[in-house]
Amino acid sequence: MTTPLPPGLQLPADLVAVVYFCHVCEGKHTYGRDYVTETGGLPTACPNCSTPFVQEDRVLRVEADTFEGLEAKKRDLFAKRGRALPGRPKPDDPKEIKKQRIHGLEEELRRLRGGEDSPGVRLGP
Ligand SMILES: [Zn+2]
Repeated sequence: MTTPLPPGLQLPADLVAVVYFCHVCEGKHTYGRDYVTETGGLPTACPNCSTPFVQEDRVLRVEADTFEGLEAKKRDLFAKRGRALPGRPKPDDPKEIKKQRIHGLEEELRRLRGGEDSPGVRLGP
């Protein structure tokens, strides 16, 4: 069922999707594993504003990723840019962090129960 990834791209074998966060328009673009196996490569530019993607500057989603793990990867990416995750700045108060985390999990549950895909997650180009 799992198509091998093209060699030479330095991607984890259990890759699920590659997520790019555009520097310019702040668009989030998710490319599923199928995109990579079908095109044999990675996208080079933002589909919204045509800004070239920085290939190191992305989040690789793998099968082992939990929701929290993925959020942590995104946070790291934005921290590297010296920024907080958009729409969810990291507060200093641990109670506030907990509250946000509960809120995030509740949203995730609602999405799962509703049988809808997470907004912004789409496979393919
Ligand atoms: Zn863009």
